[in-house]
Order: sequence, then structure tokens, then C-alpha cells
Amino acid sequence: MAHISIRNLKKQFGQTVAVSDFSLDIADGELVTFLGPSGCGKTTTLRMVAGFIAPTAGSIHIGDTDVTRLPVHKRETGMVFQRYALFPHMTVEQNVAFGLEMHKVDRRERQTRIQEVLSLVRMSHLAQRYPRELSGGQQQRVAIARALAIRPRAFLLDEPLSNLDAKLRLEVREEIRTLQQELGLSTIFVTHDQEEALAISDRMAVMFDGKVQQVGTPEELYERPANLFVASFLGRMNFLPGSHAGSTEFIAASSTSIKADGLTASTRQLGLRPERIRLSPTPQAGFANQLAGAIDNVSYLGDQLDIRFRAASGLQLIIQAPNLPEPGNGFRCWQPGMAAVANFHAHDCIAF
Ligand code: ATP
Repeated sequence: MAHISIRNLKKQFGQTVAVSDFSLDIADGELVTFLGPSGCGKTTTLRMVAGFIAPTAGSIHIGDTDVTRLPVHKRETGMVFQRYALFPHMTVEQNVAFGLEMHKVDRRERQTRIQEVLSLVRMSHLAQRYPRELSGGQQQRVAIARALAIRPRAFLLDEPLSNLDAKLRLEVREEIRTLQQELGLSTIFVTHDQEEALAISDRMAVMFDGKVQQVGTPEELYERPANLFVASFLGRMNFLPGSHAGSTEFIAASSTSIKADGLTASTRQLGLRPERIRLSPTPQAGFANQLAGAIDNVSYLGDQLDIRFRAASGLQLIIQAPNLPEPGNGFRCWQPGMAAVANFHAHDCIAF
């Protein structure tokens, strides 16, 4: 394995700047996801690392090798695609063997590696099947085995779970993460699914409009988003416009005073996650903010309630509350019209 170093990478298609000035270091054995909405440039960046697209400017190193101008097969990268990209006329075993032949691995070594990787993805028993005789999850496992057989120095995955149903997606995601960690693979994983990125990453690079917006661990990005784009793209957030009225006081809509950490004179907005607000019948000790008000609306989500709360001042908040109904009180612990207090900490308010 090897670290991957991307420096000032740029790609322009005619007038469209798909990727502008992208720099990132991926450590040996680290899994970094590229996360962002459709069209933000994540696939183009990955394809430049793999060698399918030539950059307009910038460089890519894998280990100490400058691969920027090397053809795909000389980069020693293993790539997995959204649509598996298996050869339909070849068996599982032949699909895995193909890459090894391309890399001129001799016959005996080929057999050892095929058995090794098929066993890693638990597909040894289906080695003689054709892709059409496999489920989507099994096909993707073969594609992973094929990518790993060449012992890549960088493991590159482009939305590998998008074609799988929800249950399989979770299963294959865990398998990929386990394999990646066991084998110590330096990995780039492209996805537009924030939950997937949070669950699988050592670090994430959130992209928008061809640019990296923020790079960090899942916790860093979720807890301390660097800007409004990252804050709104990753999870849900109440955005409260207003102005700073002191080092710890912020005045939000309807002159509502909120105690918040990290305020500066230029703070124009507070972000507050719906699940960080504790709803209670009376004010709860230990919270800097206790806004009395009432429930406007409740959406039932089974394990959670999605609540629209209106403070006495008029300020509105979305609150995500666990649903813990008391016996004899129906199946929703909060109902529209009930009086309630929204309690939250100053350190859960993010200043923008
Ligand atoms: P998605 O999740 O939809 O695949 P993405 O974030 O991977 O999106 P890219 O496929 O990298 O985005 O595309 C980035 C931008 O570059 C888009 O505006 C896209 O239209 C443009 N683009 C990509 N490939 C080409 C191409 N071959 N020719 C012209 N424009 C392109």
C-alpha cells in the first residue's frame, strides 16, 4: 500500500470547470470518501486518480511514484464501479483472472491469488458461475475481488453500493470497510450518500461545485461544519439568522435571546441540530437555553418523532425527539398543542 497525494488537480471540459484546485493527502491505509451532490466533481477526481481522465493541471502521486501521466494499467490501482463492470461471457474466476493476466502475473501465482481474493469476499463456491447467475451483491463482491487480486497500491470505489437494495448496501458496506482495514488499503470511496460516508470513513472530503469545502473526520464535519454548505448537506440543521449581542449571546428571530459558544461580531447565523434539542414538559436543569413554547406539529417516524416547535417568542425549531410514550397515553409522547420547553446547550449552537 501507499499514500495518495493529490496536488492542485484541475479538470476543465470546454467551459465547464469540473474540478478546480483539488489538493488532498490520503495516508497509507486510510479510507477517505469524496462526498457531494450530483455534478460536484467527485467522479471526475476519482477518474483522474485512476487514469481514465487526464487532468488539465495538477499532479497525482501514489507512494513516491508520480502517476499523473501513467496509463491506467501502470498505476497499480484497483477500481470498483457502480455497475460492477464484469465481463458477461466470463465466469467469476475468469473475471478475476483477467486483471492478473493484464498485469502479467504467471499462471501458478494467478491461481493462488484468485483463490485468495474469492475467499476474502466469500465467493469461492461460486467461482464457475457467470455474472448473470449472480445477485447484485454477489456481482459487486466479484468486482471487489477483481480489484484486489492485483494487490493494488490504491483502492478506488465509485458509488459501489448505489445499485444494491438498502439491506445489501449495509452488508456490503461493512464488508468493504472490514476488508479495507484488514488489508490496510489506501482507499478513495465516492458517494453522494451522507450516512454511508459518515459510517465508513476515516476522513471525508465534502465537495461542491468542483471545490473541496471541508476535509475532516466524520465527527469534525458533523459537529463543526466549516460553512453553510457543509452544515446543510450533512445531516439536518435549524438555521437561525440574527446577530451577536455579546460574547455568549445571540439575538435570533423575534428577538429571541440564545446563549451560544463561538460567537464573533461577524456571526450572522446559528446552526442547531434537531436531535440536540431536548424537549421536556418543564425547564431542564443544566441547559443554557430553555425556550418555553408549544408543539405545532408532529410527524411519526416510528422510533423518532419529528416535531415542529414554536417558542413563546415566535421562533420556530425542528426537533427530533425519541418516541417514548407513557402507558395509556397513546403511541406518541408529544402531540400538537402540548406546552413544552426546548432545552439546548450553548456548545451545540454552531456559529456561522
Ligand atoms: P454524479 O454523482 O452525478 O456522478 P459527480 O459529483 O461525480 O456527479 P462529475 O461526474 O465529476 O460529478 O461531474 C462534474 C462536472 O463536470 C459536471 O458539471 C459534469 O456535467 C461535468 N462533466 C463530467 N464529465 C464531463 C465530460 N466528459 N464532458 C463535459 N462535462 C463533463
